[in-house]
Amino acid sequence: MKVGLVSLGCSKNQVDSEMILGLFKNYSIDITNEVAEADIIVVNTCGFIESAKKEAIDTILEMADYKKEGNCKTLIVTGCLAKRYKKQILETMPEVDLCIGVDEYNDIDKILSECLNQKLLNQNLNFNDRIISTNFPLAYIRISDGCDNRCSYCAIPLIRGNHVSRKFEDIVSEVQNLAAQGIQEFCLIAQDTSKYGLDLYGKLRLKDIIQKISKIEGVKWIRILYMYLYETTDELIEEIAHNPKVCPYFDIPIQHISNRMLTLMNRHDTKEIIMDRIKKIREVIPEAILRTTVITGFPGETQQDFDEMLSGIRQIAFDRLGAFAYSREEDTKSYHMKNQIKESTKEERLKKVFDVQKEISLKNNKKRIGKQYEVIVEDVSPDNQYFVCRSMCEAPDVDGRIYIKIDDDNVDKIIVGGFIHVEIIECNEYDLYAKIL
Ligand code: SF4
Repeated sequence: MKVGLVSLGCSKNQVDSEMILGLFKNYSIDITNEVAEADIIVVNTCGFIESAKKEAIDTILEMADYKKEGNCKTLIVTGCLAKRYKKQILETMPEVDLCIGVDEYNDIDKILSECLNQKLLNQNLNFNDRIISTNFPLAYIRISDGCDNRCSYCAIPLIRGNHVSRKFEDIVSEVQNLAAQGIQEFCLIAQDTSKYGLDLYGKLRLKDIIQKISKIEGVKWIRILYMYLYETTDELIEEIAHNPKVCPYFDIPIQHISNRMLTLMNRHDTKEIIMDRIKKIREVIPEAILRTTVITGFPGETQQDFDEMLSGIRQIAFDRLGAFAYSREEDTKSYHMKNQIKESTKEERLKKVFDVQKEISLKNNKKRIGKQYEVIVEDVSPDNQYFVCRSMCEAPDVDGRIYIKIDDDNVDKIIVGGFIHVEIIECNEYDLYAKIL
């Protein structure tokens, strides 16, 4: 029997997908990348915002076709959408045999073994039994799950529950295992990484965990994603600055800059906190890369609020910025807010944010021409023209890349998954181009 899994959504979901595949491996079921030849197909879904839900439903329907026409006998839906809309999925999509939400992962072995006629393993999702799905030496390490922040637009706490940190020693042991298997880059993820430790140890311990894992043999790069600025302490910034294994990379989703909007969003950051923390980061780490996300068209956003956001974006000049039009999610507080904004206005504002950011990104990328970096070679471009690389300044999946033209001189010297030194020679607003040193 073979299983194929389609993983949707963010890197936090990808970690679940890798653990689900680990469980299948322990049932002695083979894993295939070709869903067409799979007897069992799993769609691990995201249900965060409207576009993610649509993508999940489209994918489930597409996979259902393999059940009608192909090898597939069992279609399983897991993840966030399965938690949020289990009843509706089972009622409206009869091709789905099993729907397992994130809240049922403590029983996943029992549910799967019964459905697939397998021997009970007495083991649920296990961080030490993951099938790493990247083709280069990178692993995402989920240090906690759930969120206590209750942003008024966000459905995550409804899906994933309250913030729960993993034990310090369990994270260390997972990193040790993966480093021993050859993984070199570790991206620490959670809904709110900067809150790591507070629930378990009564204090923020992100600084301690990066310090500890940076001492593990084989660990080359540590990158922290999803930090909240009000918890980004001076101590943490100093550790990132002085620990050579930690990427000088700050992924700090701010969502807005106007205090009126931040209050309505129930964010804990204020404009003053945002500006103060960013000033501190840049004082201590002048070469720091800043990445953020913002939301346009949150209920009640006036032209003045939006202009304040745009001017803040210009002033801060983030290196990378993702923007989303507000998605009205049922069961969230902002769903019921008055002054919902027209879709066309949300989209117009979104376009303006992207236009402004394009100019900023281009300017910031130009400053990197002539600089030298160690990069990891992730892949070869689909047209076989370039090696696709990333330095400490580029996060996997979300950022632009560094491209090196493949020629007769370098084609045999560079291997995918290896590290090389390069110098940036050209850029556009998204990507950089480099030569080997
Ligand atoms: S910090 Fe806010 S946006 Fe992020 S997961 Fe928590 S509640 Fe959602």
